[in-house]
Amino acid sequence: MTRLGSDEAVLRRRLREWYTGHRRSLPWRETSDPYAIWVSEILLQQTRVATVIERYGEFLERFPTVCALAEATEAEVLTAWSGLGYYRRARMLHRAAREVCARHGGVVPGSAAALRELPGIGRYTAAAIASIAFGEAVAAVDGNVERVVLRLAGAGLSTASEVGRRAQAEADRLLDCAAPGEWNQAMMELGATVCLPRGPRCEACPWVEVCRTRGEHPVRKRAAMRAEALSLAWVVRRRPTREPVERVWLVQRDERESVMPLMWELPETDGASGEPVLRLRHAIMQVNYEVAIFAVEATAMARRSRQRREQWVTAEEAGRMPLTGLTRKVMQRLGWLPAGGGRRAKPDGVPR
Ligand code: SF4
Repeated sequence: MTRLGSDEAVLRRRLREWYTGHRRSLPWRETSDPYAIWVSEILLQQTRVATVIERYGEFLERFPTVCALAEATEAEVLTAWSGLGYYRRARMLHRAAREVCARHGGVVPGSAAALRELPGIGRYTAAAIASIAFGEAVAAVDGNVERVVLRLAGAGLSTASEVGRRAQAEADRLLDCAAPGEWNQAMMELGATVCLPRGPRCEACPWVEVCRTRGEHPVRKRAAMRAEALSLAWVVRRRPTREPVERVWLVQRDERESVMPLMWELPETDGASGEPVLRLRHAIMQVNYEVAIFAVEATAMARRSRQRREQWVTAEEAGRMPLTGLTRKVMQRLGWLPAGGGRRAKPDGVPR
């Protein structure tokens, strides 16, 4: 079997040809705007491509330039990010946009080294933006690329840091310096669509003849998911005579929370009885929640602790607030907010 490195030129040509014929048409591949490429890279971290396709255009429409993002409030950014999860990404992107506008005159830095100085931009993201937007010859190694190069080279797994170093070295060696942006995207595409974590499609791989493992190489194990039950209260206030608009009671998460600080959500309830108005499943990080939503009288909730900020909100107001993904999902399922990617309440603001 051919050893990796014996003929990188052939490997490069095969992958380039394969990519030309198989690349997916994705909206962030149609732009050379560094800010738009940066946004896509942040969105793609921990979010499925199909979801990013839905939300990418909408985010850029809301914040078309890095300075438009910088001038927004954090609440506005979190509202636009609502439902995408991992909200720290949005906060870091917002902080970085402010730095770009304050220190770089609104111009996104043009090298991987300078990009890494910004909040929320690590080695992979800096390399991806610098290579795709500015043509810098740096290899971008995400989980997909790491898997491809380690399988190709037959590199043994040991400690996580050794795996990372070896993968970066292999990716550096393979990098096509003549077109690094295209090359990095081709590597990621191969990992995302052919060299899959389980069941790699080696028969469709342009490197099958030289690959040292052909998919037999182990992949890093994901942390196991655990299941938890969660009960939420759906507390609605109606004033049909004077005020024909329903309001739902939301609470704001504490700013010291490590996950989703300051976002708004339905209150938890522990004393609910009877049948829930809705059941659904929702995954947050390593937890699969079995969620039950109970209709609860406002008077019952009023006896609860008042330590958190609480607010009655209309559907229109909720549509403009940074809601947790779970709360937004519940409101959509109960017909309170538009389904799908919409983040705005119905034009008249009157819930069904
Ligand atoms: S031959 Fe199989 S394991 Fe090797 S790089 Fe291609 S898809 Fe991955």
